Parts: sequence; C-alpha cells; structure tokens
Amino acid sequence: MSKPRIAFFDFSCCEGCQLQVLNCEDELLDLLALVDIVQFREAMTEADWNFDIAFVEGSITREQDEPRLKKIREAAKLVIAIGACSGMAGINAIRNAMPVDKAKEIVYGNKKDAFESTFARPIDTVIKVDGYIPGCPIDRKDFLRTVQALLVGKKPPDHDYPVCQECRLRENECLLTVGIPCMGPITRGGCDAIEPTFGSPCIGCRGLVSEANIESCKQMLEKHGLTIEDISKYMTIFNSFQKEEKHA
Ligand code: SF4
Ligand code: SF4
Ligand code: SF4
Repeated sequence: MSKPRIAFFDFSCCEGCQLQVLNCEDELLDLLALVDIVQFREAMTEADWNFDIAFVEGSITREQDEPRLKKIREAAKLVIAIGACSGMAGINAIRNAMPVDKAKEIVYGNKKDAFESTFARPIDTVIKVDGYIPGCPIDRKDFLRTVQALLVGKKPPDHDYPVCQECRLRENECLLTVGIPCMGPITRGGCDAIEPTFGSPCIGCRGLVSEANIESCKQMLEKHGLTIEDISKYMTIFNSFQKEEKHA
C-alpha cells in the first residue's frame, strides 16, 4: 500500500516553522517510514504536485499568492495551516495598522514601487483549511501529533484552553503576582507554558482561545494591580488580524 504523500509550501514568513519540522531529527526517520514527502523547498529540489496533505506556512500578502494557494487547495485532500503567519497572519499583520503604501515606504524606502504588497491575511481568508498548528514557531511535538492524528483520520489537536492551565500544571509561580503582565489567561495552550516556565510572559503567539474571557482576564490582572492595557502591547504582536470575511 502506498504511503500518504505530504508537501510543504510557504508564503510570506521567515520559514522558521518549516525549520522546526527539519529539527525533528530524532523522529524524521520514523516519520519517513509513514509518509512520503514530495515537496519541501527547504529540504529538497523535487516538486511533485501529487500529494494528500499540504502544510502551508506564511501569510497572504500579494494578489499573486491567491492563485498559487488555490492550486494547492485543489491538489490536496487536506490543507493544514502551520504557524501564526499562516493561521492568523501573525506578526505580518502588524503593518495592517497603516496604509500599505506607508508600510512599503518604511521597509523599501525609495524602491517601494518595485514591490507588490497588500494587507497581510491568514490563508483561510482565501481557501478552506482543515486544521491549524499554531505558534511562532510551531512546536515540533505539536507537528508530530498532528501528523499522527491525520494519518489515522482524526482531527488535529486544537488545545482550546488557556496557557495558564499548563503553567499551573508545571507549578510555576504566576508572573502576575510579581507585577509582570502575561497573556496566558486568554492564549491557546499546547506549548507547555514555555515562556512563563522560564520567567518570561506569554505574548500570545498561539492565538486566543475560542472563548477568551476578557472580563475574567481583566479581573485577574486587576487583582495584581495590572490592567488590560498592560497586555495590549502584546495583543498587537500576533493577534492584530481580525477575521472580517472568509471566502471559503
Ligand atoms: S509563525 Fe513565526 S516562525 Fe513561523 S514562519 Fe511565521 S514568523 Fe516564522
Ligand atoms: S498568567 Fe502567565 S504566569 Fe500566570 S499562570 Fe497564566 S500563564 Fe502562568
Ligand atoms: S507561552 Fe505564549 S508566547 Fe510562549 S509559546 Fe506559549 S503561547 Fe506562545
């Protein structure tokens, strides 16, 4: 029986999430026993368009991205958005706060007209997506768990609970108690609360939980002399994009 065929694609991003896949050094051989990788620009030159699962990294930032993304959708049985850039526009959406022309001028100066660019969007504004692996970058274990789930016909894990839950399981001292703002109460878990465990606040790279309780988050912050404004600067790093319209 032939193995499922998987392919990786990237749009506007730093390609750090694909690098995380390559970093699965201890598991890569096991993975290759289960699947055939047929496109992966970071790792191979072949590019076969016959595949079952497409992992797509990066945001849509140019009109020319759309036909390429639709072609991927047509070829794949399943499309999985990997990373914050792909799933929620991530840090690319920071520039959506200003006119496109202004952002181009800041980045490219007097060469700005040589580059095409539009507002940054997640891929699900253009095509239907079957699952998400959140994070900036993605977590390697999360990627492997997702592949395992897909291979047995299950949905990828969605970790729809706050980072605080895993933080408490690790018995960390809450950063709020020492006056450090943290987005853990409203951010999707699954990362084992990696930042708070090492003394840094969560800045929301896995996106908001689906039922983000802003009111209870406010109360939690106020209890420790903090306000929602204290975490608002973190909100704009990964969570700027507001899904207004889905075309799928
Ligand atoms: S989500 Fe982060 S690590 Fe992944 S491609 Fe985007 S910027 Fe890079
Ligand atoms: S607010 Fe931050 S430090 Fe406190 S429990 Fe939640 S994730 Fe941990
Ligand atoms: S703790 Fe927050 S910022 Fe760090 S990986 Fe988890 S969700 Fe991302």
